[in-house]
Amino acid sequence: MNPLRSLILAAARNGTIRRLVATAPVSRDVVRRFVAGETTAEAVAVTRRLVDSGLTVTLDHLGEDTTDAALAEQTVQAYLELLDQLHAEGLSDRAEVSVKLSAVGQMFDEDLALANAKRICAAAEAAGTTVTLDMEDHTTTDSTLRILGELRSTWPWVGAVLQSYLHRTLDDVTALATSGSRVRLCKGAYKEPETVAFQDPIEVDKSYVRCANALLAGDGYPKFATHDPRLVRIIGERADAHGRKPGSFEHQMLFGIRPDEQLRLAQLGHTVRVYVPYGGEWYGYLMRRMAERPANTAFFLRALASRS
Ligand SMILES: Cc1cc2nc3c(=O)[nH]c(=O)nc-3n(C[C@H](O)[C@H](O)[C@H](O)COP(=O)(O)OP(=O)(O)OC[C@H]3O[C@@H](n4cnc5c(N)ncnc54)[C@H](O)[C@@H]3O)c2cc1C
Repeated sequence: MNPLRSLILAAARNGTIRRLVATAPVSRDVVRRFVAGETTAEAVAVTRRLVDSGLTVTLDHLGEDTTDAALAEQTVQAYLELLDQLHAEGLSDRAEVSVKLSAVGQMFDEDLALANAKRICAAAEAAGTTVTLDMEDHTTTDSTLRILGELRSTWPWVGAVLQSYLHRTLDDVTALATSGSRVRLCKGAYKEPETVAFQDPIEVDKSYVRCANALLAGDGYPKFATHDPRLVRIIGERADAHGRKPGSFEHQMLFGIRPDEQLRLAQLGHTVRVYVPYGGEWYGYLMRRMAERPANTAFFLRALASRS
């Protein structure tokens, strides 16, 4: 992993740095580039804007690594309110939700996480939309896939996320590339040891292409989450080779990252889904985006410096 990325991810776990960044007034402005806002109303307003420009959306209520049941309950309530609002605003055919199981109890009680995820899936079904389970660090992969299996026995449309940096992922992709399944393929955002994950970015990309091919060859609905222009081009070529038409797979990108490319792909007739995070707990998310791209960090530091 590149040293800057390791440094930023380490800073993300440092309590003092966290307090400094999270309370700096300028952080709020910078955060707006990557985060829709703190409230449900702000998230729905951004969703409306994106949908009106021809894009689809998946919304993430920010928060992870929840260590008690009361906080997990607050996350569930936030999703229930959001789903209700998406339905009320007539957006639920274009906007779904992404859920991190660690935000609903997975770290301390897998059964509670499953029960909470079931409540969110039931509300999504009532609202006429779907849920995708985000994937977190490798220590949670088995638990997340177990919970996914349980949920899919009632709601076969629940989506999974697989990360091409993990050695195991081609096997997981093959198991999930079946009829009715929805799989988001990403590179992976966490700092992982070499025992479980490719460290060389070229190996991560090669693994991404192998996994993308397996998804395109299968009967499921692949969701290719990457901003990487080379991978976006290869996905297009491989989709053609597999006889996949636009609409039988989708591109996904993060809110605020390559917005012109999102629109360009949509104008070509592709389904493009923008991952829209919102909520008060934006710190961990922001730091992962900083770690991915030095230019993002430079943007943040420039903004901080210009206010001091
Ligand atoms: C919709 C979505 C959902 C995700 N869900 C998960 C998840 O559940 N679990 C998880 O671990 N990770 C998730 N991720 C994050 C993912 O794993 C990567 O960390 C992140 O997407 C960066 O990887 P990349 O494929 O864009 O390529 P990178 O290797 O980061 O970037 C490749 C190239 O993309 C271009 N690029 C990247 N960022 C920018 C930018 N800001 N502006 C212009 N060009 C840029 C540049 O050309 C860059 O060289 C998700 C990502 C997306 C898009």
